[in-house]
Formats: sequence, C-alpha cells, structure tokens
Amino acid sequence: MIEAAGRATIRRLPEALANRIAAGEVVERPAAAVKELVENAIDAGASRIEVRIEGGGVDLIQVEDDGGGIPGDELAVAVERHATSKLKDERLVVIETLGFRGEALPAIAAVGRLALTSRTPSCPHALCLAVEGGRPAPPRPAPGALGTRVEVRDLFFNVPARRKFLKSTRREGELVVDVLKRLALAWPGVAFRLEVDGREAFRVPAESEALLGLGPERLRLVMGRDFLENAAEVEAERDGVRLVGLAGLPTLSRNHGRLQHLIVNRRPVEDRLLRAALRVAYADLLFHDRQPLAVLRLDLPFDAVDVNVHPAKAEVRFKDAGAVRGLVVGALKSTLARHGHRVATSVGGAALARMRPNVSAHASAPVGLAEADAAFAFQAPVGGDEGPWVRLDGAAVPGPVPVPGVEGPLGTARAQLFDAYVVSETGRGLVLVDMHAAHERIVYEGLKAELEAGGVRRQALLIPDVVELEPPERAVLLDHAGELRRLGLVVEPFGDAVVVREAPALLGQAPLAPLLRDLAEDLAETGEALALERGLFAALSRMACHGSIRSGRRLTLGEMDALLRRMETTLYSGQCNHGRPTHVALDRADIERLFDRR
Ligand code: ADP
Ligand code: MG
Repeated sequence: MIEAAGRATIRRLPEALANRIAAGEVVERPAAAVKELVENAIDAGASRIEVRIEGGGVDLIQVEDDGGGIPGDELAVAVERHATSKLKDERLVVIETLGFRGEALPAIAAVGRLALTSRTPSCPHALCLAVEGGRPAPPRPAPGALGTRVEVRDLFFNVPARRKFLKSTRREGELVVDVLKRLALAWPGVAFRLEVDGREAFRVPAESEALLGLGPERLRLVMGRDFLENAAEVEAERDGVRLVGLAGLPTLSRNHGRLQHLIVNRRPVEDRLLRAALRVAYADLLFHDRQPLAVLRLDLPFDAVDVNVHPAKAEVRFKDAGAVRGLVVGALKSTLARHGHRVATSVGGAALARMRPNVSAHASAPVGLAEADAAFAFQAPVGGDEGPWVRLDGAAVPGPVPVPGVEGPLGTARAQLFDAYVVSETGRGLVLVDMHAAHERIVYEGLKAELEAGGVRRQALLIPDVVELEPPERAVLLDHAGELRRLGLVVEPFGDAVVVREAPALLGQAPLAPLLRDLAEDLAETGEALALERGLFAALSRMACHGSIRSGRRLTLGEMDALLRRMETTLYSGQCNHGRPTHVALDRADIERLFDRR
C-alpha cells in the first residue's frame, strides 16, 4: 500500500536531476543513445560513421564521424539542455534535420560519462570536453581528426533502476545493430561501420542513390541476399508525396514483420500505417500468418508530416493519413498485380538445396531408398518403364524434344507427375506446376473479376439481424455505411445497436455479428473494409477451391498447356489463394550442376 505522505513544499529540481529524469524518455537503452549520436553525425554532414560498442553499449558507446565538427566555444553549450544549432523555424513546421530538440547530448551526459572530442576545419587541433554527472569540465586540447568523436562510458551508472530493466548484453547489442542498419538504409550515401566488443559486426560503403534512392549493398545486408532479385519496384507520386521502394514477392515471406521498413523524409520510423497498408495490399496473397518484406521510402513536404510526436522521434504523424495510406496501398497493389505471376527464386533455390545433400549422400554412402524418397521428390523410376511417378497421357516419357515454339514464360507442358504436378520445359529450364494451386488462383481471380464488374449481389434478410456493438464500433460502421453497401452489406442505426437488412448473397447463412466486429476493427485501423472483402473473398476462395481441378485428375497435354497459358494471363498466379507457390522454376544450369556437368 502506498500511504499518503504529509505534504512537502514545492521546490525546483536541481538541473542534474531534471536532466536525469528527462533522459529516461530520450535514452531508454543503449540503442537509443546510439541512434541519437548517429543522427547527430548525419546532421553534421558526415560521409563516414564508425560505431563501437562494448558490453551491449552499457560499458562503451563510441561514435566517430567526419562531419563539420563543433567549434570549441560551443562545446559546453552543446551539452546544455534545450541547446541546438538546428532549429530555424520556431513553429516546428520545417524540420530539415534528424535532430531538433536539443535533448540528446544533455540526456546522455546525465546518465553516462560523456567525452566529446571535436575539430572544425578552422581549428588546428581538436578539443575535448568531458562531462560527468552532468557537470562539464573546461575543454582541453586533444588529438583528433576533422569531425567529432563521442564516447559514452558506464551508461546508467547513476540510474540503477534503469540498468535493471535492460535485457541481456547480447540482446542490447542486437538492438544497436538494428538501429544502425535502419539508419544505414535511410542514408545510402553514408558509409557505416559497426564494431561490437572488438569484432566488426558489419560495414557498408557509401553507395550511390541510383536504385530508387536505396543502396543495393545495404539492402542485401538488411533484407537478405534473396530480396533484391525477389522484389518488385514500387513507385508512385501524388500531390507532392513521393513513394519509392521495393516490395517482396508474396512467396518471399517471413513469419515475422521485422523486415518491413518505412523511411519518412529520411527517418526510419515505426509506423502502423505501413503495416496496415502492407496487410491490405497482400491480403489474399500470403500463406496464413506470413509477413511480406518491404523497404519503402516516402518523401513529402515538411509541413505534411509532424515529426515531433515521439521523444525518440520513432513515430511520425501525417497531416492527411488517409491520402498517404491510399497512395501506399494503391502503389503496392498495382506493383503486386504486375508481378503477381512471379514466384520467388528462393523457392526453387530451396528445392535445389534440398536435393544436393541427398545426391552426395548417394555418392559417399548408400542410403535406403525410402530415405532417399522422403528427401527427394524427383525419384528416378525404379524398374519398369512406366513408374508410378511420371505419366504423359499414360504413355512413356519421351526423349528430349526440341522446343520449337515455346509459347510463354511457363513453357510447354511435357508430363504430369503424381497426378498433381505439371512439368513443363522452358527456354531456361524446367517448371513444375502444382495444378490444383494454380487452377484455384485462376478460378478465384475470375470470380473476383465478376464480382467487381457486376458489384456484389445483395440478398435481403427475411428477418433483419440486430447486432449489439460497442459505441465506437457502431460509430465507425455507420460512418462507412455507403462503402459497405457497395460491398453488399446494408447497415442502419437501430437504437444503440445496428440492424443489418441486406447481406452479400455469397456469404450464405454465415453469422453476421463476428463479421461486423471484424469489420469495425479493420475500418478503425486501416480505413478499409478489409473484413468484408476478406469475408467475400474467403467465400469466393472456397468456391474456387471446390471448382478447381482436384489433384488426382489426369490431364491431356493440351489441357496442361491451356493451364499454363491461363496462368500467364492471370493476376497473382504465382501463388494460390492460400499463399502457397503455384510453380517452381529450376534453371537448366542448376540442374546440370546437380549432375556435375558444369
Ligand atoms: P539536436 O541534435 O536536437 O540539436 P543534440 O543534443 O543531439 O541536439 O546536439 C546538440 C548540438 O550539438 C547540435 O545541435 C549540434 O550543433 C551539436 N552536435 C552534436 N553532435 C554533433 C556532431 N557529431 N557533429 C557536429 N555537431 C554536433
Ligand atoms: Mg541530436
């Protein structure tokens, strides 16, 4: 129990204590201090930034830059509270630098032992200012190159409570790596190097901003090797808002959302808007809870976004969030539609990787057939010329046939395997198609097109359905009543509840209350009726699933070719309605490598 203490007199906090309290917000943990110091280096025009940490950043953080430096007579001011050289606009509208609050250095100096060494071009030597417990000592001459070196030791030495809440040294170190990688993504023109406990964690050179203003080397570093060749370019512009970036193919996905980066006016930000936009754009392209990969860079006029809403500047607020969301969703959707037939090459690569160890196992030590079978789907026929695995209209496998008129990217059908897969030969190699998955997507997209052309068919309910909702849920649904009507759902106010008079015929007898609640949540979060779309599309998807070729049916070569041609002209045909890939391509070169022919 907390007991009410007797009233004490109001008094001003000593500056050092006030700084230590304020520091809690700005430097939550070592990674936050690194972020502030690196942002200062970028603001100073650095082209090379080196960061060293020890003990997860608690023992040491050192940030060295080759920027403009701090004049000797300003060193002491730099560590004072609310002292900044950056704020030109007192209305806080035009903020062209990453920093502007004048809080980072004093905050860091309040909770760690800080040494600031800097040299400007007009000074023959560097000056060093040491601050301990918030009190600066007079600057002393020191060795040092042009630019600034900030050293912070024993972070939180005087805030034991904060220290206790830190995670393990390793975890804090990883958070520093993340922060620095995100800044590196946003600033391709700057070279970065990070050393953790004396070992280099990563380095990237300064890169030209050619590729959509994103450096390929750092993209590879942050997003993984597969990303560049399995992503599609996103570009859009409207009303001075410009979006560029790369969106991963749906089949290149992860089970977490950590590889979704948004950079707003060169600031890496955490943003619900981006996550929501990605969710909408990839809605029926991903398998279960898989998450897409994306790096998006949004540049907009300074007065269209407020960066001063978060102490660590990790979030921003858009003046017209709806317009920004619309632009991002629209651009992502059209990009994905254009690239929808592609399957990530990493899928084929993964299949190949799985084959190799098995092949070498054969070479070194014989393994049981059953074991080989399990690991290697393309088992060679064992005895008999009509093995259970390859069928070509029930005939034997033909010898190599020249490919005279390879018709499209998916090539010419050659055979059917396990009654479930079509093998086709292309100019580059072979393609293996999961015919059920492919056909499901074809039927589904067809149904969706019908839906869009004719609008959603509504069905009047014999007994209108009264649904009780929380007031905010009810309000957001009624606000979007017009939109919902177009999607087949007619909702009206009914006392404290709402009444549903008509519902999409496609949804059949599905209960409406859960749909309405999901809808209210989607609308509140994303501004789009995702649940209804999802509900309708799920209904379509179920129909498509029943209406499509079941595995187990044998196709003629003509039917197989027809399937391939339709896939080539169908949106999103790279993945089925559940997000599984519909086909895998294996390059001839890779196949030959399997047999040591290259
Ligand atoms: P802010 O970045 O919001 O201005 P800081 O407390 O981070 O506040 O920094 C205070 C000032 O110190 C900056 O405005 C800048 O003039 C100077 N400064 C800090 N770090 C550097 C650096 N690495 N290079 C040059 N100047 C710096
Ligand atoms: Mg700063």
